[in-house]
Amino acid sequence: MRNLEIKRMVVKIGTNTLCREDGSINKEYLEDVARQLVELEARHIQCIVVSSGAIGAGSSELGLDGVQKDVAMKQACAAVGQSLLMRAWREAFSVYGKKVGQVLLTYGAFSDRTRHLNLKKAIDELFRLNAVPIVNENDVIATDEIDEIFGDNDKLSALVAGSTDADLLLLLTDVDGLYDRNPDADPHALLIPVVDEITEDILRIAGSKKNERSTGGMRTKINAAMIAMECGFAMVIANGKLDDVILRVAAAEEIGTLFTPSSHYSNRERWLAYAFPRGTIYLDEGAEEAIRNGRSLLPCGITAVEGVFKRGEVVRIGTFAKGVANFSSEELEAQLALCRSEREEGKRNKNESAFVSSSNIIITSNNP
Ligand code: GLU
Repeated sequence: MRNLEIKRMVVKIGTNTLCREDGSINKEYLEDVARQLVELEARHIQCIVVSSGAIGAGSSELGLDGVQKDVAMKQACAAVGQSLLMRAWREAFSVYGKKVGQVLLTYGAFSDRTRHLNLKKAIDELFRLNAVPIVNENDVIATDEIDEIFGDNDKLSALVAGSTDADLLLLLTDVDGLYDRNPDADPHALLIPVVDEITEDILRIAGSKKNERSTGGMRTKINAAMIAMECGFAMVIANGKLDDVILRVAAAEEIGTLFTPSSHYSNRERWLAYAFPRGTIYLDEGAEEAIRNGRSLLPCGITAVEGVFKRGEVVRIGTFAKGVANFSSEELEAQLALCRSEREEGKRNKNESAFVSSSNIIITSNNP
């Protein structure tokens, strides 16, 4: 048995698991998930579902062949499929007398502190009203900031778990977990039961295309695991087709691969660590050292600024930290010009106000 104590979990279900081969939604599967979640509720475990399948279902409804690659096409398919997906979830839960609530998110929801807090409040309220939150990315409008991660519900589910104080993220997929080698090519491949640290080896295994039978592949799951481990909640990758898999994982049975939590960010730190940065600030060595020693970032240590941001938005600081800007990029440029002219005159402004206050800085290790 694993050492897991769960009060709230996020269950992410991939397209290959909840859709049939032709992309249509597997209603019996959804009903089986609903049965398990209702049983967990009786054991006082709340579950948030992150459901993929909108693009697949939409594509099947529109009579399109194959996997959609074009972004606009995916968006159109998601627009058609999302309502079908929600109808299917509604029907599945209605068998058990439960209601569902649709929560459509973009990554922007995790960048803005107010929206981030709103998300948590809305999810708490849905639970209070006895409705199951069913989350998906708002694929129809999810574009500029997330192009390279479009359609990655693995990362989204980790951010949802982090924002809603979940203790466990369960990624249900079409493989049994993380293997040490490609299980299709090598019959001696072994399932890795527990991962305590994301090593170069784990990244190499996950990066190998051969291990990618599921939609997002193993790499996006490992990225989700990094978020989970840093935020301090556990993550399990398990085969969604196993009998009672959700109940068994929640009961701490040793199935799939468990990623153990390694640190405990506060709620605010979690937000900051995974907020989408609106700009990048480059520093001189002295400023970098000051930040690493827990001090604020003053304008005179800044060597260059990239991007356009407003006061209160998150910026990347060098390659090692993130923080909340106290001035807009325009105000900062003006400050930097002042710093430069003062330096030329051999003066140094001793009363500089911090561009990022020390309490609003987080040193990020491996998150993007
Ligand atoms: N959001 C996508 C959909 O609902 C799926 C993304 C994923 O599978 O990671 O179709």
